[in-house]
Amino acid sequence: MVSRVIPVDPFDLVIFGGTGDLARRKILPGLYRRMAAGQMPAEARIIGAARTDLDRAGYQAMVREAIEEFGDPKHAGDAAGVSDFLERLDYVAVDATGDDGWKELKGKMRDGMIRAFYFSVGPSLFGDLAERLKAHKIAGDESRIVVEKPFGHDLASAKALNASLARYFDETQIYRIDHYLGKETVQNLMAVRFGNMLFEPLWNSQYVDHIQITVAETVGVAGRGSYYDKSGAMRDMVQNHLMQLLCLIAMEPPAKFDPDAVRDEKLKVIRALDPVDHHEIVRGQYDAGADGPSYREDVEDPKSRTESYVAMKLGLSNWRWAGTPFYLRTGKRLKTRASEIAVVFKDAPHSIFGPDAGRHRNILTIRLQPNEGMELGVTIKEPGPGGMRLMDVPLDMSFADALGDEAEEVPDAYERLIMDVIRGNQTLFMRGDEVEAAWAWTDPIIEGWIDRHDVPKPYDPGSSGPDDAMLLVHRDGRKWRDIRA
Ligand code: NAD
Repeated sequence: MVSRVIPVDPFDLVIFGGTGDLARRKILPGLYRRMAAGQMPAEARIIGAARTDLDRAGYQAMVREAIEEFGDPKHAGDAAGVSDFLERLDYVAVDATGDDGWKELKGKMRDGMIRAFYFSVGPSLFGDLAERLKAHKIAGDESRIVVEKPFGHDLASAKALNASLARYFDETQIYRIDHYLGKETVQNLMAVRFGNMLFEPLWNSQYVDHIQITVAETVGVAGRGSYYDKSGAMRDMVQNHLMQLLCLIAMEPPAKFDPDAVRDEKLKVIRALDPVDHHEIVRGQYDAGADGPSYREDVEDPKSRTESYVAMKLGLSNWRWAGTPFYLRTGKRLKTRASEIAVVFKDAPHSIFGPDAGRHRNILTIRLQPNEGMELGVTIKEPGPGGMRLMDVPLDMSFADALGDEAEEVPDAYERLIMDVIRGNQTLFMRGDEVEAAWAWTDPIIEGWIDRHDVPKPYDPGSSGPDDAMLLVHRDGRKWRDIRA
């Protein structure tokens, strides 16, 4: 049932930061899976480029270990397959801020291939890399660059980053990765909305009571505390991942499934967002628990005011959504790891079954992780004798169940997105103006917290977040969905 794998054209992919954590955990094992799936042609080459002094054999050994540790177990044990993949690798030690290694890198690039450059390094190096790629004539007008998050920490820094790339590359060459957009379910969200007659007529404030977007994590920030404490849930999750999900759920149908048509519609959603009243945002920080230290201990700052949790109520001022609230929440050290979007439809206008039948609502749930899939809650009669009582049952479509073994071959987000880069398809990547619009909306919220000396509310690790977040929804006569795996 999984669609036919169509090999991409031959390419040279340079991974700057090719020895880093992201490259070892996600990018390289993902590329190996694409090769195993038959999507990578034999001529494809991957060149690691980083500060570390390594030769080709040393890099191959490092990547072999990375595949063993982080790769898909189904393919990682295939010695011949791994060796075949390693044959496609090369390495060059490069200094992004100096002259070392650039001539050698240029010598490794082949003519007639697609050239892609993955900037898997800190954003402070983006401008340096872009400049040197052009100065050494390694990248041309057809080359693509892929940049990782965080794309700025506010509007000014995002603009500066955009400008530093725009000096050397056209927007059509820049692929800003948000791996949430590479998830199968996220794309399915567009398929469900715009490929069916069933949902779109109901997809508006007349029929939708409210929408909830939840990204809950069980892990804390230990190990990346110093980075996270400068960022917080708002910058780390809401400005990018949750905002992208909101855009896809709320956008108007684009005229065609083409990168700029989709991104134009997403941008309109961000621009239609109402400013958020600070009473409609709850920030939290996890306390210490039996199985771990508090947030403040994790970031080694007993006075930190950075949020590890945020919940908010958003409104969109447009014809489709005026009056339908969007509740967003995300946090760390919560009771379950789960990401989902729930579209909660309104009650039927009149219940013919009387008050005893209870209140029942259709809810369309789009699960991003774990167990990607969709579920539509429908109301039916409770089986058995004894009158007309109603109950809700899910019409469940877990991709794993629906696709069986073939679900294992569905590419993970990074793999899919890298293949899109090679294919030159920007649909699932953020455009510069989208990123800037998201920061323009985020900045005043964060500035408001700073001005008010706002202190996040503590919450118990393993809980659903601070009590105030429950009140945020309860006072509207609604409730959060239970976070479940
Ligand atoms: P890392 O610190 O593990 O690796 C950094 C890499 O950059 C190394 O290969 C290093 O050699 C290279 N490097 C550093 N300075 C260099 C220079 N002057 N010249 C050439 N190479 C240089 O970092 P990471 O975790 O792999 O993250 C890379 C980027 O991806 C960061 O921007 C990070 O925010 C982002 N990111 C990482 C993850 C993740 O899961 N690790 C997730 C999302 C985004």
